[in-house]
Amino acid sequence: MSATFPFAPRNDWSLAEVRALFELPFNDLLFQAQTVHRAHFDANRVQVSTLLSIKTGACPEDCKYCPQSGHYNTGLDKEKLMEVQKVLDAAAEAKAIGSTRFCMGAAWKHPSAKDMPYVLKMVEGVKALGMETCMTLGKLSREQTVALAEAGLDYYNHNLDTSPEFYGNIITTRTYAERLETLAHVREAGMKICSGGILGMGESVDDRAGLLIQLANLPEQPESVPINMLVKVKGTPLAEEKDVDPFDFIRTLAVARIMMPKSHVRLSAGREQMNDQMQALAFFAGANSIFYGEKLLTTANPQAGKDMQLFARLGIKPEERQEHADEVHQAAIEQALVEQRDSKLFYNAVSA
Ligand code: SF4
Repeated sequence: MSATFPFAPRNDWSLAEVRALFELPFNDLLFQAQTVHRAHFDANRVQVSTLLSIKTGACPEDCKYCPQSGHYNTGLDKEKLMEVQKVLDAAAEAKAIGSTRFCMGAAWKHPSAKDMPYVLKMVEGVKALGMETCMTLGKLSREQTVALAEAGLDYYNHNLDTSPEFYGNIITTRTYAERLETLAHVREAGMKICSGGILGMGESVDDRAGLLIQLANLPEQPESVPINMLVKVKGTPLAEEKDVDPFDFIRTLAVARIMMPKSHVRLSAGREQMNDQMQALAFFAGANSIFYGEKLLTTANPQAGKDMQLFARLGIKPEERQEHADEVHQAAIEQALVEQRDSKLFYNAVSA
C-alpha cells in the first residue's frame, strides 16, 4: 500500500493519477478498493433502491443510448405523467419488499411549471411513507430545486454520462456545462447528488477516467455514483456497440470507490447482463448500492427475489435507512432554504 493511500475524499485528482489506478494489476486495484471501502462502510451491506418511470418516452433530448429519446424509433410505449396515487402505491410496494429509497424518473428536457405541483405531491407522499426520495427529471432551475427540496426530496439524479471530451459524441441537445449547473443548483438547495455515467458507449479508458475526475473533483463529491453498463436497445444509435470487457467494468467501479471513498457506488443499468459471479466481484470492488425491482426505467432488471438470493449466498444484508444522516440532511436543507428565501429566490410552486 502506498504512503499516499487515499482514505479521505480529495477534489484534486489528475488524469495521470487516475490512469495509474486503471493500469494497476487487477488484484492490486481490487485490494486497494476493498481496503478503502472497509474504511468507510460495512463491506457486507448494500443499499437498495427502487426506480419507477413516472413519465416514459418522447423525450426531446437525443442521448444516443436511450430508448426514451423521441429521436429514435425503439417501439417503446409512450406514457403521460403517472397519477400521483399510482406512484404512491408503487412506492408502498417497493417499501414492502425492502427498498429504502424510491427513485422517480421522468423523460423530460426539464419539468414544466404545469407538472411541478404533481411532482411535488409525489415527493411529499413518498416521504410520508418513511422512504428516502430521489428524482430524475432533467435540467432544473434554481427555483425548481428549492421547491423540490422543500417538498422533501433527498436526492436528485443527474448523470454526467461520460467525459467532457467524449460527451459531444453521445448528446448534442444539452451541454455538459448545463449538467454541471443543475448539479450546482441541487447542492445549493441542500439536496444530495446522485450522478454517474455509462460504460460501453465507445469511450476510451481516458474518457472513463475523465468522467470519474469530473465527479470526484466537484466541490463536494456526489453521495451516490451510479455506474451503468450500456443496455443496447434496438433502434438507438448505440445498439451495435462492442461489449465492455467485464474486468474493465469492475476496474472502473474499483477506481470510483478509491476516488470517492464515502460515496455509495451503484451497480446500475446493465445488471441483467451480469452473472452472479460478476455482481459478487462488483460488490468486492466497492459497489454498495443496487436498483431492485422489476424494471429499471424501461429495461429489464433482475427480479427482486433473485437479488435477495444472491445477497443471502454472499452474506450481504440490505443497508438500513440512516435516521441520523437524515436529520443532518434535513438541517442542511432547512439552512439552504433560509438562505434562498433571504436572497428572494424562493419559488412558489402553487402560483407557477
Ligand atoms: S437519458 Fe434522459 S434526457 Fe436523455 S433521452 Fe433519455 S430520458 Fe431523455
